[in-house]
Amino acid sequence: MKNVVLLGSTGSIGTSTLKVAEDLPDRIRLIGLAAGNNAELLLEQARRHQPQAVCLGDPAKAAELARALGPACDVYSGAEGLIRLATLPAADIVLVAIVGTAGLQPALAAIRAGKDLAVASKEILVMAGEIVMREARRHGVRVLAVDSEHSAIFQCLDGRPVSSVRKLWLTASGGPFRTTPREEFPRITVERALQHPSWVMGRKITIDSATLFNKGLEMIEARWLFDIEIGRVDVLIHPQSVIHSMVEFVDGSWLAQLSTPDMCLPIQYALTYPERAPSQRVQTDFARIASLTFEAPDLERFPALELARRAGETGGTMPAVLNAANEIAVEAFLSGRINFPQITETVRRTMAAHTATAHPSLEEILRADAWAREAARRIVKELGGGP
Ligand code: NDP
Repeated sequence: MKNVVLLGSTGSIGTSTLKVAEDLPDRIRLIGLAAGNNAELLLEQARRHQPQAVCLGDPAKAAELARALGPACDVYSGAEGLIRLATLPAADIVLVAIVGTAGLQPALAAIRAGKDLAVASKEILVMAGEIVMREARRHGVRVLAVDSEHSAIFQCLDGRPVSSVRKLWLTASGGPFRTTPREEFPRITVERALQHPSWVMGRKITIDSATLFNKGLEMIEARWLFDIEIGRVDVLIHPQSVIHSMVEFVDGSWLAQLSTPDMCLPIQYALTYPERAPSQRVQTDFARIASLTFEAPDLERFPALELARRAGETGGTMPAVLNAANEIAVEAFLSGRINFPQITETVRRTMAAHTATAHPSLEEILRADAWAREAARRIVKELGGGP
């Protein structure tokens, strides 16, 4: 039985994690749940799963929630509450599935308290991969990937050292604009960008999948999770999303992990690792899938991949700058202030204005993050206007 704290329980990954916990009641116990704003859903989840403690972003809403839940469940709020939840003495593993960067401090607190970490929030490793992995080694805890691509690579590696690897291959569906001509990109609407061909996810990651920034962030995530230089991490477009990623070994052999796309599978693997728990939830019918196809990514239409590679190669504070600028640009696109190609343009210009600090401390990373948000806001104004 694993005692799990779930940060981001009301989101797409969070609700899938609840399904996994319901499938495996004798293996997974949810002892802590955290959400940002959705008090109603958090209340429902807490009543169903009876955690020891919950946390909500807003203190006033948290006080209301505490009245509704009664004395059996502690209710925390805000950034401090997330840290208290992530370090609950009874927790074995903390799954971080908060969109954006709010999961970084609780993730570090969990590691320092000796908890294993399951990471969905790739922002954490993109911003501070060096620090997170160093702290995990120091405290002897595991950092397990929830991202389906990294879970696939972890399963293919199965403990083999990176010295046996020629390349890690992240697969990408290509998103909704895989075949859209570049001239149409400025006219792409928010509604179209939010329609992903194979995955149902939160809004931010869905836009990142349309620009391919998601894959770029995943390249940097892989670099840290598997301790491999970014030059040996590559991307292949695979529209069926059945192969979740592959490892090419030094002898020319490849291993891949396959299934119909469903996040419940990598979530379950991370939470039950090193065991494989039986589950009927994900079924894969290859006769129906019939064919698997591949193509190289088009770097002209999707320059996000090259920007991410450059940020990964530069290292230091540059990945945090890429991540922060992208968050601001995605928000600006979602609220109609810039057009689709201007997301990448905002990130490119922000990165060009930044001088990276090598091996940064957490404070330096957070400072670079704040700087990049300001710089990106100014660029958004120049590009698209608006506040
Ligand atoms: P969603 O937008 O669906 O959910 C985000 C969750 O984070 C919600 O529960 C939200 O709470 C919570 N949240 C936001 N801010 C705070 C905060 N300050 N404190 C506490 N909770 C907060 O996102 P996804 O589930 O899609 O993605 C979550 C992370 O997982 C992202 O980093 C994403 O890149 C990654 N990921 C997602 C995949 C997917 O299939 N969706 C696949 C792989 C990785 P509320 O709604 O109550 O405000």
